[in-house]
Amino acid sequence: MSAPAAGIDGFRTPRATCLLAPNPSPMTLDGTNTWLVAEPGSSSVVVVDPGPADEEHLDRVRAAAVAGDRRVAKILLTHGHPDHSAGAARLAGLTGAPVQAADPAHRLGPGDPGGLGDGDVVTAAGCELRVVATPGHSGDSVCLLLPADGALFTGDTVLGRGTTVIAGDGNLGDYLRTLCLLRDLAEARGVGLLLPGHGPMLADPLGTLDYYLSHRAERLDQVRSALAAGAKTPAEIVAMIYTDVDPSVWPAAEWSVRAQLDYLAGGEP
Ligand SMILES: [Zn+2]
Repeated sequence: MSAPAAGIDGFRTPRATCLLAPNPSPMTLDGTNTWLVAEPGSSSVVVVDPGPADEEHLDRVRAAAVAGDRRVAKILLTHGHPDHSAGAARLAGLTGAPVQAADPAHRLGPGDPGGLGDGDVVTAAGCELRVVATPGHSGDSVCLLLPADGALFTGDTVLGRGTTVIAGDGNLGDYLRTLCLLRDLAEARGVGLLLPGHGPMLADPLGTLDYYLSHRAERLDQVRSALAAGAKTPAEIVAMIYTDVDPSVWPAAEWSVRAQLDYLAGGEP
């Protein structure tokens, strides 16, 4: 794996700006990417993934969001994992903005903030964000397409470096279908940039998604081989085949191995 890339915090497209949260770890890479989205000149802004409940980060997000007399129109979550969502209620309190998420448990009023269902279009801050359901990393993961910038917010479905894990609430069959769907989407909609929830931006979406697909196929082959070689537990399989990743993420790799075992037991090819 390469060293942390510079240029994540403050990265911009015409309509999106990244604010990096100070929660780096082997799982969150450089930290969580919080995104501000607005049409230039708009009087409001959308926040995607407020990040962890870190007061300094949330204050920085709020200040950047309301600069130039803007207000926060909406807070959107790519999924409910705490490194993306734990700061949402606090940011909602600071800004008065509703929180929209695929999982009803993460939505926050006033009134009914609505969900983020597949095919929904969120229109706010002069921008259109199209919701794509992308289960796999977690059951509630969505990606958000920003057609005006040819960019796709990928949450943890695609990361800026390395590959993602299938979490305890994820599913490998779903994830493989999601990767194929995103590849089709990237091709059909001319997506030129992936804006991930962690790590640097990805300027070759098709190359990245092809790598993810081949990496998954390779891991499945390795799990099959480990089973054939007599590995019995997920931990044994991880120790045999995750020799190329930092042992600090082996516990998370066990989730992925469990997901692969479920997948293989389900008889999917
Ligand atoms: Zn994350």
